[in-house]
Amino acid sequence: MTVPDWLGDVISTVPDFPIDGISFRDLSPLWASPSAMSRATVALADGAAGVSAVVGIEARGFLVGMALAQRLGVPFVAARKPGKLPGEVIGVDYGLEYGSDRVELQTGALDADDVVVIADDVLATGGTAAAVVSLVRSTGATVHSVRVVLELDGLDGRSPLEGVDVMAIGSVPG
Ligand code: AMP
Repeated sequence: MTVPDWLGDVISTVPDFPIDGISFRDLSPLWASPSAMSRATVALADGAAGVSAVVGIEARGFLVGMALAQRLGVPFVAARKPGKLPGEVIGVDYGLEYGSDRVELQTGALDADDVVVIADDVLATGGTAAAVVSLVRSTGATVHSVRVVLELDGLDGRSPLEGVDVMAIGSVPG
């Protein structure tokens, strides 16, 4: 486990949630700590000056992404599950271990001039983040990096993100 002490103190590990065998990394204590959240936001912003938008992945990526967008002084854009965004949307389908899912953006939320950070709480298999990378690129925008609070070791989450700069504040066993 490689996490700074201040972050390790605000991660709660819940065995067998939401299903048997999963060690769920609950960041609720991070959300509840203004000082740790502030440190996390500063860490996530390091090296991201100059981007034009932050895309947060539903749902916990909204918490990280909005804080980061505020810190960087740029717009926040929500990447959402199907049926949640009003108006015209664009989307991509992606495979999960069991079944499939879809992620959507509002049409016009990004354009070819944008340089984007994609934010989430946890990088596990990388499937969700990879889908958002391809969705962002489909608008013509450039992906600057994927930034997460925690990366789960042993799940090969960087593989589907090959060629994308991935930054995690800490890593823990998956
Ligand atoms: P991924 O497998 O990288 O597509 O993960 C999908 C989403 O599930 C991420 O956005 C994480 O928020 C969440 N997630 C996956 N595994 C865990 C875990 N062990 N603890 C907490 N969140 C997880």
